[in-house]
Amino acid sequence: MEIEIINTGSELLLGRVLNTHQQFLCSQLANLGMVVTRQVAISDTGPAIQNAVREALGRAELIIVTGGLGPTSDDITRDLIAELLGKKLRVDAEALSRIEQFFAQRNRRMPETTKVQALVPEGSIVLQNAHGTAPGLVIELDPNPFGSAGKRAVLVMLPGPPRELRPMFSKQVIPLLGKYFPKLTAFVCRTLKTTGIGESYVEEKIAGPLKHLTDGRIELGYCARVGEVDVRLVAHGADGECCVAEAEKIISGLIGAHIFGRDDDVLEEVVVRQLIAAKKTLAIAESCTGGFICHRITNVPGASEVFLNGMVTYSNESKQRLVGVHSETLAQFGAVSEATAREMAEGARLRSNADYAIAVTGIAGPGGGSTEKPVGTVFIALAGAEKTVTQQHLLQYDRETFKFVTSQLALDLLRRTLPLHR
Ligand code: ATP
Repeated sequence: MEIEIINTGSELLLGRVLNTHQQFLCSQLANLGMVVTRQVAISDTGPAIQNAVREALGRAELIIVTGGLGPTSDDITRDLIAELLGKKLRVDAEALSRIEQFFAQRNRRMPETTKVQALVPEGSIVLQNAHGTAPGLVIELDPNPFGSAGKRAVLVMLPGPPRELRPMFSKQVIPLLGKYFPKLTAFVCRTLKTTGIGESYVEEKIAGPLKHLTDGRIELGYCARVGEVDVRLVAHGADGECCVAEAEKIISGLIGAHIFGRDDDVLEEVVVRQLIAAKKTLAIAESCTGGFICHRITNVPGASEVFLNGMVTYSNESKQRLVGVHSETLAQFGAVSEATAREMAEGARLRSNADYAIAVTGIAGPGGGSTEKPVGTVFIALAGAEKTVTQQHLLQYDRETFKFVTSQLALDLLRRTLPLHR
């Protein structure tokens, strides 16, 4: 099946905005077994939009167009597509009332131009927008006026802002795709998310034991990012779920300690879930990560249940004053040392009255390294009621990546210490 994505927006062609819709939509569709066959980014002009949609309809059965559904004069996607398909626009009463409510709730006057967003091509399914004003639209073209005789096409139009498009696609478009393309969506895809293990090592460990399944029954894929490797299992057909479950069991037996989640799980969410389930609290003392671990934890809804406080103890003075690191420790071992990390964690835990405290101290570089402690040296400590665990790593990356990987290792240390929670 041919599936095409058309991303509209001159800002994409000028390099002002990164085309994240392309990645998001392709990955979401791939998870449904629907692999995108072509993707284009085009400007917001009439001929560009109509030509791209006409051409896509000539090839594909599913076309997704993003952007240009808003109220401004350059938002012309809806009008142009209606014109191309010879469809009249009608006012969708629910969309109009939602737009009016959107402004009323914010105590703002509703500009007249905003109402154009409630105009929808006749015969379209209206996807109400829970995070903005422009609804999305789905039009089934049966037959497709630009395709081969008798063939059908489904055209989906989505608003440009990512915080509007993403939930609309996940919550409203995916269920519709299941109805329009039931055979394709009858497929199982599971991603096992790992950390603390390299891609080649993962493959070396699991490829052999999975061979009886990968010889035709499931597809196995790897995706390595900084600090994480995803293992993707895909199976088609009636016994797809069983095959994937069998593969998952084998993989868990081999590298289970490294698997922190599945599918869309992120490490900080997993850790917060574990803390909530175990009814344990957390404090954090950060030096080289400058608050990044706190940032990741506080990105998780519900973090306030378990996260007590975080301290960025960057200077020696603040390490002493805020978390009670001894001046003798700093003098004898230095700020970047196992002893300092340990005292930071223990001090943060005691002073915050938390069940656990994480501490990190390291040399992000590019300067500041020595033969004994080269750039990239980092110490991580996790203090709990019974003991304090420390780790030393050498992470030779740029500063930003260094901070991310350090945070990843610290969160993973906590994850492995807490009881599992799925
Ligand atoms: P509105 O005009 O109401 O904001 P719209 O549906 O008309 O919504 P656009 O005007 O095309 O959408 O885009 C709105 C914003 O969404 C852009 O300024 C851009 O920041 C973001 N955006 C649009 N397309 C993309 C894309 N492909 N990837 C990432 N961000 C995008």
